[in-house]
Amino acid sequence: MRQGDENPNDKPECCCNKKRFVAAYKASEDLAAVRVTTFDDPENEDQSYRPVSDLPKEASRLADLLHGWGVPEHIEKMMRCSFRISSASIYDLPDLETYRKERVILIGDAAHGMVPNAGIGLLTGLEDVGTLLAILRRFPKPQDWNKALELYSSIRVQRGTAAQNRARNIRGKGMATSIFGSGLNHFIFSLVVAAGNKGYFTHYTAFDCEDEVAKILQEN
Ligand SMILES: Cc1cc2nc3c(=O)[nH]c(=O)nc-3n(C[C@H](O)[C@H](O)[C@H](O)COP(=O)(O)OP(=O)(O)OC[C@H]3O[C@@H](n4cnc5c(N)ncnc54)[C@H](O)[C@@H]3O)c2cc1C
Repeated sequence: MRQGDENPNDKPECCCNKKRFVAAYKASEDLAAVRVTTFDDPENEDQSYRPVSDLPKEASRLADLLHGWGVPEHIEKMMRCSFRISSASIYDLPDLETYRKERVILIGDAAHGMVPNAGIGLLTGLEDVGTLLAILRRFPKPQDWNKALELYSSIRVQRGTAAQNRARNIRGKGMATSIFGSGLNHFIFSLVVAAGNKGYFTHYTAFDCEDEVAKILQEN
């Protein structure tokens, strides 16, 4: 999933299937952000980070693209007036069975890189760090590190995979359409988000690293 561009080499039938997503966020009274997402673009560009060198030109190109998609005029205008454009390639990593191989462990996105739709990628990585810290506090001696790394992986894989699946699920719901078009789905989705923000249901359960490690050690 990469921000921004349509591939000029796409055949028309590919364009029909391509999923696109535009979202606008209000940051303050005078500042907003526009997120433009396309899916499954081919990897034929330099993947290193490239800040936009000609901002007005890039902003214009993206605004024209959004115009072609038929977005509301004010969103197109916001894009045209951008003062910053950040592009990012996003990868949904496959679920791993272990985060450990011999002396190497994976933490953060390296272990469970996910689509950002649930907003829990960093949070899940911080849980990895907290868990590792809690384990190493209990096993400070090098002769115990084999056990410590295995424990880290066994505690975190389940939680990491659950977070990835949650993110995929939310992305799926956010992108879904029906015979009524995407409008109805977006309306229902925004009601659910609003209900979550009001606290009618819990989006995420707290993970207390110290408690979780203590619990597992007690069980074993
Ligand atoms: C659009 C978007 C919105 C998000 N929103 C949220 C949110 O609301 N809440 C949330 O919790 N999470 C969110 N996330 C996810 C969050 O940003 C990531 O989960 C988090 O940044 C992962 O941290 P990390 O340290 O594991 O990896 P990274 O932040 O990717 O850090 C890895 C670093 O390694 C560097 N690197 C890579 N290869 C090499 C190399 N060969 N040599 C040296 N350095 C290298 C990279 O440049 C990078 O700086 C979002 C992500 C995106 C893309």
